[in-house]
Amino acid sequence: MTLNRREFLLAAGGALAAAPFPAIARARPKVVVVGAGFGGATCARYLKLWSPTVEVTLIEPNPRFYSCPMSNTVLAGMNRLDDIGFGYGHLRRRVDRFVRDTVTAIDTAKRTVTTAGGHVFAYDRLVLSPGIELQFDRVQGYDAEAQRVVKHAWKAGPDQTGVLRRQLEAMPDGGVFAIAIPMAPLRCPPAPYERVSLIANYFKRAKPRAKIVVLDGNDDIVSKKALFLAAWRKHYGYDTENSLIDYRPNNVASQLDAKAMTLGTEFDEVKADVINLIPPMRAAAITAAIGARTGDNGCCAPVDYLGFESTEVPNVHILGDAILSNLSKAAAMANNSGKLCAYALGEIFAGRAPDPDPVLTSTCYSASTDRTAFHVATVFRYNSADRAMEVQSGGGVSEHESEIEFKYMRGWARNIWSDTLALPRGYPFGNRV
Ligand SMILES: Cc1cc2nc3c(=O)[nH]c(=O)nc-3n(C[C@H](O)[C@H](O)[C@H](O)COP(=O)(O)OP(=O)(O)OC[C@H]3O[C@@H](n4cnc5c(N)ncnc54)[C@H](O)[C@@H]3O)c2cc1C
Repeated sequence: MTLNRREFLLAAGGALAAAPFPAIARARPKVVVVGAGFGGATCARYLKLWSPTVEVTLIEPNPRFYSCPMSNTVLAGMNRLDDIGFGYGHLRRRVDRFVRDTVTAIDTAKRTVTTAGGHVFAYDRLVLSPGIELQFDRVQGYDAEAQRVVKHAWKAGPDQTGVLRRQLEAMPDGGVFAIAIPMAPLRCPPAPYERVSLIANYFKRAKPRAKIVVLDGNDDIVSKKALFLAAWRKHYGYDTENSLIDYRPNNVASQLDAKAMTLGTEFDEVKADVINLIPPMRAAAITAAIGARTGDNGCCAPVDYLGFESTEVPNVHILGDAILSNLSKAAAMANNSGKLCAYALGEIFAGRAPDPDPVLTSTCYSASTDRTAFHVATVFRYNSADRAMEVQSGGGVSEHESEIEFKYMRGWARNIWSDTLALPRGYPFGNRV
């Protein structure tokens, strides 16, 4: 039997797989990236930029990118949904193939992915950045019918952020808005408290007799506590009898009656005009389908930080909110680790070992009013002894809210959108974001 050149190289690639960092013997190594959110889009873009010979296929079902960062400002009426929504056109031109579809199956032995549309794509390395799966079944009554009325808005877009905004606008002055926060781990831990702050800010301006009931599954505010409490006291009467915000910790939302508009916990039942119920979450389903989601009762996918390769499934790299990690579940981290992964893949394809000492950073802003914000910044460095990411700087937290940080937050958002989605210089952002 004679082998043609392609068959020979494929066979050689298989044999070389036993070496620690084998150069991929193909002329054009293939990478398939699943999910064009913050992690996947960044990784695909930078992989093509730094390793132009790699054939990059990016697969994403959504026609438009809607940003979770800044989505709370849309709920508060400070921005419009369009201000945080972007087309994929610029990114599409940066990769070899941009496929609008959902990956439904992965054959890790044959190294292929199959989409709902019936297409099959081969890969040498696969990158998964599919974000989170919301566990509606962990709240009794949060079925498909209830989901039509009660929104989570934990994935941004017209059917979530847009609908919840309209519900808040339609709520009568003197009405009750109830928000349920799940127990950690959750995507962007400060974001629920930012949401409370900004909706309080909207009510203060537009519906001064309204109330916000916060049912928090955690035993306390889990992020930037002192900063949020200071802002709630200063702006929203917190700790006084006229407080706009009624914060109730240790209250896990376990029952929803969407017809009666009630939300139940072990200790409480709240009747509300608008309910925002954020259910518990875990790594998106496609990570479980290949056995990569093993950590903490199957919540998320462990990785080796040198290149974000799954510790469970070889040749599959996992990014963003789907990973089991102490790294921040933040767009900033997904974007930063998308670049680290893109760089590591380039090294692997060139037969070199990736940087043994990687450093990652994350900065997360939270707005406290329609003109003030604060931040926390964290630096993580790889510790090779225990193969973990260690926090390098414990500082990096604002002392107090400020107007200048609100401006920085807007700049941060424009930067990360441009970087992730390859938006051109001079892109016409909305005036307000
Ligand atoms: C209200 C809110 C505010 C936030 N604010 C901030 C902030 O200020 N700063 C910050 O840093 N972070 C913030 N975050 C967190 C940030 O949004 C996430 O950490 C970030 O989106 C994670 O990126 P990702 O790539 O892991 O997932 P995502 O951005 O969710 O992208 C996942 C993508 O994968 C696609 N996908 C899923 N399954 C499949 C499949 N089977 N086939 C193909 N595609 C698939 C999805 O359609 C999606 O587009 C906030 C989050 C929320 C909810």
